[in-house]
Amino acid sequence: MSEATAAAERIAFGRPWITGEDRRAVLEVLDGPILTHGPKGRAFETEFAAFMGDSAHCVAVSSGMAALHLASIALGLGPGDEVIAPAQTHVATANAIEWVGARPVFVDCDEATGNVTPDRIAAAIGPRTKAISVVHFDGIPCDMPSIVQLADRHGIPVIEDCALAVGTRIAGMHAGLFGVLGCFSFYPVKHITTGEGGMVSTRDPDLAARIGRIRAHGVDKTFAERTIPGMYDVVALGLNYRMSEMQSALGRSQLRRIDENLRQRAMNFERLAVLRDVPSVRVIDAADPRATSSHYCLTVVLDGPLGPKRDAFVTGLNAHGIETSIYYPQPVPRMRFYRERYGYDPSAFPNATAISDRSIALPVGPHLSTADVDRIVGAFRAVAEELG
Ligand SMILES: *Cc1c(COP(=O)(O)O)cnc(C)c1O
Repeated sequence: MSEATAAAERIAFGRPWITGEDRRAVLEVLDGPILTHGPKGRAFETEFAAFMGDSAHCVAVSSGMAALHLASIALGLGPGDEVIAPAQTHVATANAIEWVGARPVFVDCDEATGNVTPDRIAAAIGPRTKAISVVHFDGIPCDMPSIVQLADRHGIPVIEDCALAVGTRIAGMHAGLFGVLGCFSFYPVKHITTGEGGMVSTRDPDLAARIGRIRAHGVDKTFAERTIPGMYDVVALGLNYRMSEMQSALGRSQLRRIDENLRQRAMNFERLAVLRDVPSVRVIDAADPRATSSHYCLTVVLDGPLGPKRDAFVTGLNAHGIETSIYYPQPVPRMRFYRERYGYDPSAFPNATAISDRSIALPVGPHLSTADVDRIVGAFRAVAEELG
């Protein structure tokens, strides 16, 4: 490939990694009689649980939002209850609380990791607090041992939003197993994809079984457990948040490459992290030596003279053929729906606000070659120089 061609090629922020094996896995389902509620779904749950380790139990669902909604339902959250939630997260973390009639109480994040901290959570706990919801920002683990200790002291459950945390561990234990429930997303730009999809994880087999029933209309018996076809009873108020067999087959196939996926992300992240030497640039990264990040992306925060120039910086990178994103574009309490519902104090979440207004998310996924990463570094330095 000539240099001119290479320079003209755009580097995507995220691109689903779909192989011939993935395609064959999906087609095999279409050639058979079972399109949902079948053996591929159960196998995906078992294999994802094995990947997590520590006797995890998993329930495959239709999206990350579905997983989070089921978590709120399963914990019995409702009107009058408060749930502590990160200000710096995807809106789904908060929507899952709102949809059961509970109220999210937002807390700011740490500026170095983008994660909520035990101190900030402790300060927000009140008499109505019924749960704590945390997100592992960019796949960097929150300090779960301390957060769980705090939650246990107050007798309240912890929900982990693991949408960016496939492969996130602390001292070997996978995110989503510290709290009572973990919620994963398989949306196309996440670590692995099923088109749309998600997973709930827990170490409690009874809770997993209950969530599995609520996911599927609250029916008491799965398809396979019915002795007389078509006969079942309904034991809970359910929904239909099932994952199809086509999606499950794709998820299983994707999961087979997870180690290589994570290895490439870690490598690309390290190579890109030299950007921390650029003046007025900070790289959001794990601070705890026990932490293993899943390296979803690399977020830089622009400080000093670059701070007010984030949008121009993005435009500059895009002109170099580098596609970027922003995780997440607004602190959730500043989003119009939440602002109008609860009011908004612009000074309340300075670190979440800095990430939303002054950060750029750069790609590190397995679709990048080493040369691509070097191109991002070169373009970033050039734009920083130009704007600094
Ligand atoms: C993507 C994402 C979600 C939503 O997942 P969907 O599968 O799109 O419903 C929830 N939380 C976080 C932190 C996310 O990044």
